[in-house]
Amino acid sequence: MKRVVLALCSAAVLALTACSGAGGSASADGRLAVTASFYPLQWAAEQVGGDHVTVTSLTRPGAEPHDLELTPKDVGALGSSQVVVYLSGFQPAVDDAVRSQAQDAAFDVAPAADLSITAAADGGAGTARDPHFWLDPVRFEKVVTAIGERFATVDPAHAAEYRAHAAALVERLAALDQKFRTGLASCRSNELVTGHVAFAYLAQRYGLSQEGIAGLSPEAEPDAATLRDLAAYVQQHGVTTVYTETLASPALVETLARETGAKVAVLDPVEGITSASQGGDYLEVMRSNLETLRAGQECR
Ligand SMILES: [Zn+2]
Repeated sequence: MKRVVLALCSAAVLALTACSGAGGSASADGRLAVTASFYPLQWAAEQVGGDHVTVTSLTRPGAEPHDLELTPKDVGALGSSQVVVYLSGFQPAVDDAVRSQAQDAAFDVAPAADLSITAAADGGAGTARDPHFWLDPVRFEKVVTAIGERFATVDPAHAAEYRAHAAALVERLAALDQKFRTGLASCRSNELVTGHVAFAYLAQRYGLSQEGIAGLSPEAEPDAATLRDLAAYVQQHGVTTVYTETLASPALVETLARETGAKVAVLDPVEGITSASQGGDYLEVMRSNLETLRAGQECR
């Protein structure tokens, strides 16, 4: 890794990135160079790092993170990062790039995220761990704390600030969790019918049961039998709202709605923030998701 960093630093254009060649020291602008692999991790890293970090995200706003492809430039940038925050098993290209470019800097949040839910893998190849931990604020709290500890270890001069920022963010997530608990405590329907099955951790946390059309990745195409079964489920359980998502095609959910007479509402799996997002950051979009769920599930 050292050789890679030195090679990159010979280019004047990269003069502001980490050029010390030694892991753990600050970059030329004095900030910790952090790469995050997708939006919720980027947001958490920014909140925890504050003024002492520069965070780059590998997933562009509005891009689908599941099947992220990396350019050679992206891969090269990993080699000059002091911390690479990622979720192993979620984005295969990132797993590969971390292995080849950033083994020392890599920080896998999977252990803190507690990915205990498995689902049918796309393509029918057995089961896979559900990656969408960030839609459960309680799991996200654990990840935020872990990021704070990692920053504190890599940049001990600012350890107290990283830990304080992490604790403050954990408090905001705990308040969000409380809002969801109260908001979803008493609903006419506890059946959550979605497009891509991103909401299993959220559903489990707040007593909903999720039935999805597609698999863990929004690109998966369901067959006609799956759609027919789901239409029967919607009718049997008196489901009045089915949910599509911001980054996925609404066609399948709209078909289901047409066949069952249910309404369509949009839930955001918070895999990226764009001008179409119902809020400017993770917390705002999650609060908007809660209002959407309260209307769709008919909560008091
Ligand atoms: Zn997803």
